[in-house]
Amino acid sequence: MKAVLDSSALLVGKYPEMEEMLTTPDVIRELEKKGMTSELRSFIEVKLRVASPSEEGMERVMEASLESGDSERLSQTDTGLLALALDEKATILTDDYSIQNLAMVLGIDYKGVMFPEITKRVSWRYRCVGCGRRYEDHSEVCEVCGSRLRTYRKQEENIEKQK
Ligand SMILES: [Zn+2]
Repeated sequence: MKAVLDSSALLVGKYPEMEEMLTTPDVIRELEKKGMTSELRSFIEVKLRVASPSEEGMERVMEASLESGDSERLSQTDTGLLALALDEKATILTDDYSIQNLAMVLGIDYKGVMFPEITKRVSWRYRCVGCGRRYEDHSEVCEVCGSRLRTYRKQEENIEKQK
């Protein structure tokens, strides 16, 4: 298995046997900021390949995230990880459900690290905290009463995970 690891996966420090492990420069920067143990540092130096995702991959992920409604909660780093997994045809290791959700949409294989991965596609919906009106699309404030919207998950489709 070829795998792309997010920062939480790297911090956990236990990995199944893999042929190749990859991550993005953004993840390394995040880990640098948090401070790395010497173990993690040597793991990164010895076992991990750091690669940047392609422009094309980034665009595909951004388009898909707009369609699925995940774009609000997907960071630049998350987008890069998904794009790299697409480029490399790798499995993505993450506990982030937004990343997993989008991986499913894009046909990228994914695995949870500490927690079992999602098996259902999640759609995001929005509800006004003031009047309770529901919205399909994200906006800053409710058009009726001006209160802010809260996100909630709507599970829509049962998708058998493809192995
Ligand atoms: Zn409202």
